[in-house]
Formats: sequence, structure tokens, C-alpha cells
Amino acid sequence: MNGLDVPRIRSHFDFPAAGRVVTNNAASTQPPRELVELFRRLAPWYENVHRGQSAASRRTTAMFEASYDTIAAWLNAPSRRSVTMFRNTTEAINAVMYSLLTEFRDGDNVVSTLLEHNSNYVPWHGLCREILPRLGRRVELRLARFDADGRLDLDHLASLVDERTKLVCCTGASNFFGSKPDLAKVREIADAGGYPQPTGERRALLLVDAAQLAPTSALDVRALDVDYLAFSFHKMLAPFGVGVLYAKEHLLDHAMPFLYGGDMIAEGRVTAESVAWNDLPWKFTAGTPNILGTIVSAQALRLLVDLVLPTSFFGGAGPLPRVAVEEVMARIGRHTADLTARCMAGLRSNSHLVTYGPERRTPLVAFNIEGLSPFAVAEALDRRGVEARAGCHCATLAHQALGLDPPASCRLSFALYNTVEDVDRAVEAVREIAGGYS
Ligand code: PLP
Repeated sequence: MNGLDVPRIRSHFDFPAAGRVVTNNAASTQPPRELVELFRRLAPWYENVHRGQSAASRRTTAMFEASYDTIAAWLNAPSRRSVTMFRNTTEAINAVMYSLLTEFRDGDNVVSTLLEHNSNYVPWHGLCREILPRLGRRVELRLARFDADGRLDLDHLASLVDERTKLVCCTGASNFFGSKPDLAKVREIADAGGYPQPTGERRALLLVDAAQLAPTSALDVRALDVDYLAFSFHKMLAPFGVGVLYAKEHLLDHAMPFLYGGDMIAEGRVTAESVAWNDLPWKFTAGTPNILGTIVSAQALRLLVDLVLPTSFFGGAGPLPRVAVEEVMARIGRHTADLTARCMAGLRSNSHLVTYGPERRTPLVAFNIEGLSPFAVAEALDRRGVEARAGCHCATLAHQALGLDPPASCRLSFALYNTVEDVDRAVEAVREIAGGYS
């Protein structure tokens, strides 16, 4: 089999027994039973990390630190030194924003896109319109357009980047259109910008918001040559509360810490005059971190491999083989793309319905039914047991750019555990709602 054994995958989850059609996965995925039980398995060894000499503390510390290795390997990052955990994608992007505060000069600019989730727009708006003006610096925020199918307009993006562009911030996949910007091209475009590199050259830093890309694609931060990349584990089977920021090591070395306090300083190196930062990645873990969340998030990646391939990485430590990560994500990508194509074909057979975005997309479909509020549609879907999301999905700029009034749509989104039957139930429910049944 080179696809997914969906019945086997579903047997690891509790939601099918509740009869739910879980088609709001772009918001958050469901946790497999093993991850829910992991907390109980860890309970006998429950301890803080880096704060005790007991066997329990050493064991928990080793598991916590090994989680960074798993996550680094997942991203093909050179080592754990370039991965840092935050609460979510949003906090990770904010950490980048604060770390760059001192890097901007009057007349610089930041280039982003109208496709962004507010998490990758509001921090840059805050930087350029609030924080830097208060510090007496004018830095422009420029936003690239998208085409009629919701694909990033790369020519427009290129026209916005100049030698004063310090940073390009771009989504890996739009959470409204599903479109996936060509990140290799975005990298090339960012190369025309002007942030000083350790080699003496200048090119803009590139930040990728991978929140919607990570759940269905193998990410290789070295091949993408991104400077920063962030995503949240709650969209990848783990519980809420942990997001990762990958950043090139020289940037983290140079960066100001995001939060100041205990554990982010070198052991004993605090005096009334000076403080020395801890080694990477602990320079960015002020205070007690989300220990269980980090361990469970790394184990979610290991379990994901086991759910798709006949392997047994779950519960272990150490890096995951690259070939396994690539194979697993390729299979998940194909399965969810097939479901999405089926969903789009089903929805589009209805003449009173409009879908947004291109054919090639991440596994989500946003739509509106003529004359009906998307909120009413999502509620009617829920009455039929189908879970959807209505609103602007925090992609407010894109909804506004389309002139949608109110700026809202209804969205169905798929994960590895969804079936063809889930899609058909959702499509049938939408057909009934569009046909006037309440
Ligand atoms: N970026 C995109 C594209 C998203 O879809 C989301 C969440 O939906 C986020 C960022 C924010 O993720 P979080 O709420 O985990 O910070």
C-alpha cells in the first residue's frame, strides 16, 4: 500500500465513536489516544526540567531535550540549536518581530502579502504602525496582491522588494484560498532585499508561516533556505499549547531574547553588572517551559510516522529518518488532496455556490452559498453532524480584498483520518442547505 490505511488510522482516535464528521481540521486536529494517554505514562516521572538532580528530573529533562532533536530532524534543521518552542505560531512570529526591533532603520520596509493570517500580518502592522513610529523610525509595510484564483502575484511581490527590504513574510499556504505560494520563487525575490548576511552580502530575511503547510507537507528548512519558519502542533495531532520557531542559528545567536528570566541565562552567570545568556536553544526558554506539551508534540510527530508506515518510533527518542518523514507526508498530502478535489467537485456542482481558491491547494475549501450567511450555513451543517468553520478565519485582508460583505465564508478542511464518506456527507449536507432545506 502506498496510500493511507484510513480505518487503521481512525482506530487510534476516539472521535469516530462519537459519530462526528470532523471537517474543521485547519483550525485544529484531533488527538490520537496514545497522546492523550502519554500524560499518564509520564506521570510516575513527573518533574521539572533543568531544575533537579533526581532520577525523575534527569529523565524528564532528557525526554524534553530529545523532543527538540525530533522536531529539528522533522524540519531537517541542522540541530536542536535552531528550534525554539513557543505557545503557538502567533507567539513564534511575535518573538521574531521583537527580536528584530533594533534591526530596522528609518526608511526600511517589510514586505508581506494579502494572503496572510492575522498572525503573520498584525505583528508586522504593529511593528511598522505602532512600535517603530513611537521610537521615531518610519518603516513601511508593503503587501503583495493575489490573482483571481487566490494565488500570490509573484510579479507584484517582486516589485515591492528593494534594497531597503529587510524582511519578507509569507504564508506557506493560505488558510482561506488554500493556495501555496512557490517558496523557492519567494526566496529568490527576497534575495533582492537588503539585510546584511554573515557573508557580507545583503538579502532580505524570509519568514514563512507554515501553520497550514506543515500538516500535509514535509518541510525542509535547509532546502527552502528560509530564515524563520513557524507552525503549531495543535494542527498536527498534538494537544494545544506548543508551536515551533525554526530560525537560522546565527540569527538566534544575534537576537535579543524574547522573554527574560530563569533558565535562559547561563548557570550562575548573573551579577549586578551583567548577565550571560544560556546556550541555544535554551536562551529562549525563560521560566518553566511547556514540558509536557513539548514532549507530547514531538511524540505526535513520531506517532504520525507510525500511523502511516509500519514503524514504531512512538515513545522513542532520537532523530527521525528523513526518508520516513518525506514518505509519510507525501502519502498524507496525496490522500488529503484527493479528498479536497472530491469536495470541490461536489460543491461546484451547485450553481448557487461559489468556492474560493485554485485547483492545487492545501486541504481546505472555503465557499459561500448565494443569499445565505456563512454562519447560518455552518450551523445548519452542524445540525447535520458536519463540523465546519464560518467567519474570516483570521484571513481578514483576503476576504476584504475580494469585497465580501460581510468578510466571511464557510470552510471545510481535511486531515489524514478523513474518509471519502466524510466528504460525501459534507457535500450532501451543503447541497441540502443550498437547496433550501433547513
Ligand atoms: N497562520 C495560519 C496560516 C493559520 O491558519 C493559523 C491558524 O489557524 C495561524 C497562523 C495561527 O496559528 P495559532 O493560532 O496556533 O497561533
